[in-house]
Amino acid sequence: MSLTVCKFGGSSLADGNNIARVAEIVKSDPARKYVVVSAPGKRFSEDRKVTDLLYDCYKESLEKGNCSEAFSKIRKRFHSIVEELNLESFDIDAILDETEKEIETRKSIDFTASRGEYLNARVISAFMGWQFVDAKDIIFFDANGSFDEKRSYPLIFETLTKYETAIIPGFYGTDAKGEVKTFSRGGSDISGAIVARGVNAELYENWTDVSGFLACDPRIVEKPKKIENISFKELRELSYMGANVLHADSIFPVRKGDIPIKIKNTFRPQDAGTLILPSKKYKKGEGIVTGIAGKKDFTVIFLEKSMMNAEVGFARKVLSVLENKEIRFEHMPSGIDTLSLVIESHFLENGILEELLVEIKEAVHPDYIHVLENIALVATVGHGMASSVGTSARLFSALSDAGINVRMIDQGSSELNIIVGINNEDYERCIRAIYHAFFQ
Ligand code: ASP
Repeated sequence: MSLTVCKFGGSSLADGNNIARVAEIVKSDPARKYVVVSAPGKRFSEDRKVTDLLYDCYKESLEKGNCSEAFSKIRKRFHSIVEELNLESFDIDAILDETEKEIETRKSIDFTASRGEYLNARVISAFMGWQFVDAKDIIFFDANGSFDEKRSYPLIFETLTKYETAIIPGFYGTDAKGEVKTFSRGGSDISGAIVARGVNAELYENWTDVSGFLACDPRIVEKPKKIENISFKELRELSYMGANVLHADSIFPVRKGDIPIKIKNTFRPQDAGTLILPSKKYKKGEGIVTGIAGKKDFTVIFLEKSMMNAEVGFARKVLSVLENKEIRFEHMPSGIDTLSLVIESHFLENGILEELLVEIKEAVHPDYIHVLENIALVATVGHGMASSVGTSARLFSALSDAGINVRMIDQGSSELNIIVGINNEDYERCIRAIYHAFFQ
């Protein structure tokens, strides 16, 4: 019998009516046995997510010793959810009272933030009549704060397979000291992936409010093509570069277990969505390019030194300077006598850039050092690129026709992507030009 783990995001669970719709979706396929849920999200654009309201509770309880004012908004949200679901016999007040008290006494930001998922999972489990399994008992972090797979996976398997069906709150687990710890924002996607791996699911369905991935940002190109199939590697490139339907870290657990992810829209369940496949199962489609994504605000430090290629340890010395200052770099394109470092500009604010340049000069004595600021990176991604002659010619002639000055080029060694650095102000035009070159 096939097994699917589903995760539903905050917008899919923002009120009682949406929760009822989710229950229907879940029950329409018997393979959907374990469901990871987010906290209620926004019901309308000016609304606030329950997780954000909880951060207010934490602040208030630190300032005043109690959080009754901020918590009253959480109460109201859950009262109306319970009412909309006609759950009269469910004593939500007892759970809310206990939660409020715990927030005030524990004074832990992670514990407080995690309560949106906890409360929502309790309500949904009561509504569906499915077992509630607390994430704190099955998901663990190690002493460095990283997800502890050795401890978690056997417990997830052992605990969940005791039940026919279960509801699990997303976003948190337990740290090495036994305290509740959250993932970064949007982390229920990661919890869902971990649960899918833990129970060896055949499929991880991630239900959200869009019908999958689009070939590029719809705010830049009107109605871009939908991506039906994408490999984990392509997705990693695109989501890293800002295509954020799914938390970037949620890919790793399922990828290791060769479990495909399906992105589905709770509000349009009939749409096919996007299927994300491990390389083994992925079959390249007809298109050369799968998607285009990018990010603004990078700084490029360009170094030149003649005979750089003959100088052993040049790159190591440059990178040690970055490491000592705890600055990470994104790309490092290099030539025979040149090396460039591409760094997110916010790491270099408040005089750090100037300090960095002095230290690099001392470490490697370049002939020339030059800084380009306000650079945007645009990645064109697709397995099809490696086997198609003329892909880069097509890409660069599109950019040249659009009058876009390319400041930097980096082609990943996997031939999966070509990244161009351009001025921030050319960002939208660049994406449009590439899209039109490959998709129209
Ligand atoms: N509720 C958390 C957040 O708003 C986690 C999640 O929804 O995935 O970030």
